[in-house]
Amino acid sequence: MRRALIAGNWKMNLDRAGAISLAKGVAEQAREVDHADLAVIPPSVYVDAVASVLQGSNVAWGVQNVYWKPNGAFTGEISVAMAKDLGCRYVVIGHSERRHILGESDEDVNNKVHAVIDGGLVPIICVGETLEEREKERTLVVVERQTLAALAGVSADKARGVVLAYEPVWAIGTGKNATPAQAEEVHVALRKVLAGRYNREIAEAIRIQYGGSVKPDNARELLSQPNIDGALVGGASLKVDQFLGIVAGLSR
Ligand code: PEP
Repeated sequence: MRRALIAGNWKMNLDRAGAISLAKGVAEQAREVDHADLAVIPPSVYVDAVASVLQGSNVAWGVQNVYWKPNGAFTGEISVAMAKDLGCRYVVIGHSERRHILGESDEDVNNKVHAVIDGGLVPIICVGETLEEREKERTLVVVERQTLAALAGVSADKARGVVLAYEPVWAIGTGKNATPAQAEEVHVALRKVLAGRYNREIAEAIRIQYGGSVKPDNARELLSQPNIDGALVGGASLKVDQFLGIVAGLSR
């Protein structure tokens, strides 16, 4: 069975003191967790402070974005090497807010995926349809296109270690989650896309997280679906009890 990954995306929230205090709370309460991998993804300016708190705990950390060039005149961006220098394990790539608010394209996502893998970190590649696309029954077409574009030129061996996150745009931060059946349907389809692109064994090895208004009260049912291998959590990851409540919903 694929071991679940529960990752908390803090987005552009908190201040330095708040980030440190949340990290302390998560590390403390996660001490007994041995049945899932946990990670927090703070704003990049607080990663160093959060990393000092999480060092030696069983909670990993990451960044919400990187640029794909190794260094140079790219004002406002951070590189994979910088994220690595901060001890990051994960990099969220192609989050819907980056795609839809900040104009990130499938090609940008692909460049970033290559840079992250080549830099030895784990990309959490986000895909997901808008409400309009779902209503037009284009969900599977959209997530397939985004997945194949993100993995263009990525070898089977390198693909094995990536994480895919199915995040329907209409469910992010809205309090309206996909039903377990809706999410499972897309995860099964994504698994097939991965099997077609690579092979069955690699498709089975890749974790596919669900994200979109995951909370303690809906986590158990979502996470018990056979193809849902974890959660990418936004709002609920900003509260220690809610984040750990989601982890508690995982069967051991
Ligand atoms: C996210 O940030 O990826 C997310 C899924 O947010 P929320 O849990 O708040 O919907």
